[in-house]
Amino acid sequence: MTRRDTQSWGHSTVETACPLDCPDSCTLEVTVENGRIVSIDGGHQNPTTRDYICGKVRRFAGRVYGEDRLLYPGIRKGTKGDGTFNRVPWGEALDHIAAKIEEIRARSGAEAILPFCYGGSNGLLTQDTNDAALWRRLGTSRLARTVCAAATGAANLGLYGKMPGVVYEDYVHARLIVLWGVNPSSSGIHLVPFIKEARQNGALLIVIDPRATSLAKQADVHLAPHPGTDLPIALALHTYLFDRGHADHEFLAAHATGVDELRARASGWTIERAAQVSGVAAAQLERVAELYASASPSVIRCGWGLERNRNGGSAVAAVLALPAVAGKFGVRGGGFSMSNSTAFGIKAAEWMNDNPEPQTRLVNMNKLGDALLDYRDPPVEMLFVYNCNPLATMPHQNRVLEGLKRSDLFTVVYEQVFTDTSRYADVVLPATTFLEHYDIAKGYGPISLQLVRPVVEPAGEARPNVEVFSEIAARLGLGDAEEETDTLLRIGGRLPHATGAELLERGAATPPYGGRPVQFVDVFPLTPDGKINLCPVALDQQAPAGLYGFQPDPATDRYPLALISPASEKTISSTLGELRERAGMLQMHPSDAAERGIGHEDPVRVFNQLGEVHCPVALNRDIRPGTVSLAKGLWRRSTYNGSTSNALVPDTLTDLGGGACFNDARVQVALLGRH
Ligand code: SF4
Repeated sequence: MTRRDTQSWGHSTVETACPLDCPDSCTLEVTVENGRIVSIDGGHQNPTTRDYICGKVRRFAGRVYGEDRLLYPGIRKGTKGDGTFNRVPWGEALDHIAAKIEEIRARSGAEAILPFCYGGSNGLLTQDTNDAALWRRLGTSRLARTVCAAATGAANLGLYGKMPGVVYEDYVHARLIVLWGVNPSSSGIHLVPFIKEARQNGALLIVIDPRATSLAKQADVHLAPHPGTDLPIALALHTYLFDRGHADHEFLAAHATGVDELRARASGWTIERAAQVSGVAAAQLERVAELYASASPSVIRCGWGLERNRNGGSAVAAVLALPAVAGKFGVRGGGFSMSNSTAFGIKAAEWMNDNPEPQTRLVNMNKLGDALLDYRDPPVEMLFVYNCNPLATMPHQNRVLEGLKRSDLFTVVYEQVFTDTSRYADVVLPATTFLEHYDIAKGYGPISLQLVRPVVEPAGEARPNVEVFSEIAARLGLGDAEEETDTLLRIGGRLPHATGAELLERGAATPPYGGRPVQFVDVFPLTPDGKINLCPVALDQQAPAGLYGFQPDPATDRYPLALISPASEKTISSTLGELRERAGMLQMHPSDAAERGIGHEDPVRVFNQLGEVHCPVALNRDIRPGTVSLAKGLWRRSTYNGSTSNALVPDTLTDLGGGACFNDARVQVALLGRH
C-alpha cells in the first residue's frame, strides 16, 4: 500500500469515513480539485447514514484550510499565553521534546510527564496505538479519560457488560420511543428520520430534556426535569412498574440478579415525590409510566445528557434497568440504545498489551487543574496534549488556565489548529486531520467499521499521530519509527475475525448480527454470569450515596440557576469551535430574565464562586425556568471575557466512573456591570 493515493491535480471524488466523536460514523464522499477539497458530502457505504451528513463536517474544509490551521512545528518565543512561536524543522522540535523527556525522567521520574488526550480525531489509529506504546514504555502518569461517557460506561458495563443495543433502523418497529437526555437533532442526527418513520407508523414519542428541543415539541409527552433529577424519575417509574403489576417477573427470574435490591432502593420514590424533586407535573410523569408499561416494542434512547451530574451514573443505571423490569427485550425495536462501540468485539488491549500498562499514577482528566497545581511527588513537569483542547473542554477552567501558565511546566500541544490550549504551549506540533491521514472509524450508533482514507496531502508540514509518536520513541531508544500505513496494517491485523483484511480490501467490515441485533435474541449481557446485574456490588461501593442513592441539588440562594452546556449544531465537542462566527449566547427563560431586568441580547455576567462568563443573552421559552444554557465546546474567543461555561463548572465527579459534572454548575446571572 502506498502512503498516499491522493491526487494533486485534476478532479476526483474519494470515499472515506468520518471518525469524529459522533455516534453515526458517516461514509463521506469528498470532492477534490487540484489537490484541494471542494466539497464534503454523504457516501453510500454506511447504509444507516443514508447519503447525508451534518453541517459541521460539510464545512470541515474550513478547518483544513482555515487561518487557525497549525502548519509548522514551533517553539515558544514570547511569554505563555502570547501564542507566538518560532518556526522550527520537525527534527529540531522532536529533538527538543525528547531531550526534555530525558531531562525530566532523570530528574523526577517519568510520572512527572502527563500525556493528555481525548477523542479529537477519535479513530482507532490516532489514539491508543503508538502514543500508548511510548507512554507505557516510559512509565509516565496515566490518564483516566473521563470527561465524557465515564458514568454511562460504568453503568452500562456494570448492568449489561456493555451489551450492544437497538440500532437506528429498528426504531421504525417501536410503538413507543423514549429519548432520554439526548437531542438527535444536534448529534447522532441519523436517528431522526427513523423516529419520523416510526411516528408515521403510529409510534408514540416521549422526550425527557430540560429544553423543548425540536423533537420534544413534536412529542406526545415532554418531561422537562430540573437538571440532575433523572434518577428520581427513573426510580419512580420502577416503583410504578413493580407496584402496579407491570414488572416482568418471569424475564427477571431468568435473566437478572439484584432485582429485590433495585426494587427496595426505588421504593421510596413515588410518582408524587419524584415529580416534586424534578419539577415535572405528577400527571405527566404518571402518563409516561402508563405509556411505558403498556407499549411494546418500546425503546429507550439513553443519551449522555443525564450523566453529567453528581447522580449521573445511578441515573443511567436506573434508566437502563427499565427495559429489564418492564420486559421490553426480545423483540425488534424493543430495549435500549446506549453505545454500540463494543459490537465488533474490538479491544485495544489486543495491541496495547504488547506494552503492559505500568501501574503508575492515574490522573483523572477532570482534575487537570489539581494535577497541574497541587500534585507533588512528583509534580507534573511536562504536559503533552493531543486530540484534545483541555482549556476549552475541562471543568474548572480558571484552575486549568492557572496551571497552564506555570513557568516551570513544559507543555507540548500537538494539534490540527491553533487551539486555546496551544497558546500556552512551549512547543506546538501540527497534526493531520482525518482528511489527510489513514484511520479506522468505528460507529457507536450504527454498527459499522470503515477505513478512513487521506483525500488530500497534509496542509503545511502536518503529520499523522502514529508517525510522530513512534519517532519520539525512536529518539528515546524505545522503539522504531513507523510509517502510518505500517501501523494501519499492524493494527488491522489485530482486529478480530479477519475484519481487518476485509476493512483494508473493501473499505468497510461486515457488521455482526447483520448490523441489527435484537437484544436477548442475538445479543445477551456480556457480564461474567451472562445476566443483567441490576445492583452490582462494585457500583454500589463506588457511588457516594450507594447505587441509586440520590444526592441533593447543589444550588444555593446565591447561585440558584442550573447551568447546562449541551451539544450544539456547530461543534463536535470543541472541534470546529474556531469556525464559530458569533458569540455564544446564554439561553434564558424570559421569566428568569425579567426577574433580573435582562432583555434579549443584553450583555450579561454569568457567575458563581469559580468564575464568570460575559456573553449576550437569548431569551428563549424553550428552556425550563430556573435553568440556563450555554453551548458545549465554545472556545474562549466566543465570549466577551474569554471564559466559557467550564469556568463555572466544578471539578466534582459523577457518582460512578469519575465523570465530569458539567450540569452541576449553579450560577447567578446579572446585566454586565451589576452585582
Ligand atoms: S459528525 Fe456525525 S453526522 Fe457529522 S459527518 Fe461525522 S459522523 Fe456524520
